[in-house]
Amino acid sequence: MNQGCCSNQTERSQYKPCPSCGQKGQTVKKITVQSILKPEKRKQLEENDFWVCENPDCSVLYYSSSGQTYLVEDAQVRVGFKVKEDPIPVCYCHGVTKKDILANWEKTRSFSELLNILGITGECQCEIKNPKGRCCVDDIRKIVLEELDANPRQIQASCCSTNCCS
Ligand SMILES: [Zn+2]
Repeated sequence: MNQGCCSNQTERSQYKPCPSCGQKGQTVKKITVQSILKPEKRKQLEENDFWVCENPDCSVLYYSSSGQTYLVEDAQVRVGFKVKEDPIPVCYCHGVTKKDILANWEKTRSFSELLNILGITGECQCEIKNPKGRCCVDDIRKIVLEELDANPRQIQASCCSTNCCS
């Protein structure tokens, strides 16, 4: 089965508990950490293996194999999965917020159309713009499924069909 660009996400998944909250975080590339952290923080990056804590209630954003932590406030972007008030960024490459997604679903009720309307097509730089370092389409899918009365069949479009990852 060809899963295109999204298949390597599971291959490189390696979980390690966050030293602060204990929730399992996912590996994230050093280039992501370097791009997201404020310049003064990224200078201290000596290690190569990093994880991202996606627990919305934890103040830690990244941590390294030695247990060094980098906080949400060390990021130069607003981290959508750590904030509860608008704006809640979801697609960092195209400046799409959770509110945009909720507001546009009714107009389309089709996942691929939704991505089109939101402008989530073409070039993406998820690796350096998204604090998770990966494509945002899974996050959008989750929002549509959890917050709206979407039928799972309406949201089967893979991110690769929009070429957003290429
Ligand atoms: Zn944590």
